[in-house]
Amino acid sequence: MSAPERALARIGLGAIERNCAHLRSLLRGDAQLCAVVKADGYGHGAVWAAKSALAGGASWLAVATAAEAEDLRRHGIAERILVMGALTREDLRVAAEAQADVVAWSPEVAERGERVHVKLDTGMGRLGTKDVELARSLLRDDTVGLMSHFATADEPDDDYFPRQLERFSEFAEEARRERPDLIVHAANSAATYRDPAALFDMVRCGIAIYGMDPFGEDPHARGLEPALSLHSHLGAVRRFEPGDSAGYGRRWTAHESTWIATVPIGYGDGWRRALSNNCDVLVGGRRHPVVGTISMDNLTIDLGPETDFAVGEPVVLIGAQGEERVLAEEVARRLDTINYEITCGLSSRVRRLHVR
Ligand SMILES: *Cc1c(COP(=O)(O)O)cnc(C)c1O
Repeated sequence: MSAPERALARIGLGAIERNCAHLRSLLRGDAQLCAVVKADGYGHGAVWAAKSALAGGASWLAVATAAEAEDLRRHGIAERILVMGALTREDLRVAAEAQADVVAWSPEVAERGERVHVKLDTGMGRLGTKDVELARSLLRDDTVGLMSHFATADEPDDDYFPRQLERFSEFAEEARRERPDLIVHAANSAATYRDPAALFDMVRCGIAIYGMDPFGEDPHARGLEPALSLHSHLGAVRRFEPGDSAGYGRRWTAHESTWIATVPIGYGDGWRRALSNNCDVLVGGRRHPVVGTISMDNLTIDLGPETDFAVGEPVVLIGAQGEERVLAEEVARRLDTINYEITCGLSSRVRRLHVR
């Protein structure tokens, strides 16, 4: 471990590579893996994530914005990049300059874009056209792809996903009769695990390439390895007597003598305030509860009535230490959100250290 730093996210590039290789093993024939690196690679660093994903067997990349595609190009990435978001005229120009593929569901964009994927909204209710006739009319000789997106792929027992899949399969089959070279794609990470019929020619995986579970469960059970761990250290260790309180609003008070440590990470780093009195961190390979209100730059933890830990002792907020571990999925559950939001929410003040 390097010298203690107040807030550090370690990103294991090998994990991203292996997760991509694992996802590819789920595909059939020459189906391709498109690695989704939008939002700075879900907080992992888009360029590093993209390069690792490509090393792991991904052959396409996807981002949300034209600026994100431009950034990948600026860092020397030459593979195909799909920009998945809605684009203004200016965005279209930036995307074209970056030689990125774009998504279209209107004649305006379909005619302007040079590398177009036509999007049918089969029930996501966000982007794409719901009108099959219109989608059909947008297909041209040089259209690259045909796509859709699932709303409930991560809800294993629902009956909406199969209906979306059926709508899309029907349309894709028909379109392929005339254009057998179209790249048909619909699956996100959850759909890639859920149903082989959703794989088509390419899958667009984001969360799983980072080793987080698309169903919010244990990623290891699905052959995935979390790439990100979050580290800090003990910045102060002090004795508290009964009645002493920790933090703003006195939301925690000692009932007996104990040792309280201050860890220099807080909501300014993305460790959300709603985790106050509501999460554990790892010190010395054991769980210790966060007590009191998390502030912008600090939080406090209870080390118990006896402790050998001193200032500088490493703290793990996400990741493993000894036999114990805290998954992003656990943090998400405590916040009533999804793992995606945990890593995306780590602020730029958290230094990213990319390691092999
Ligand atoms: C973000 C996104 C994905 C990736 O989803 P994951 O659940 O992270 O695998 C795929 N397709 C579209 C259109 C997206 O916006």
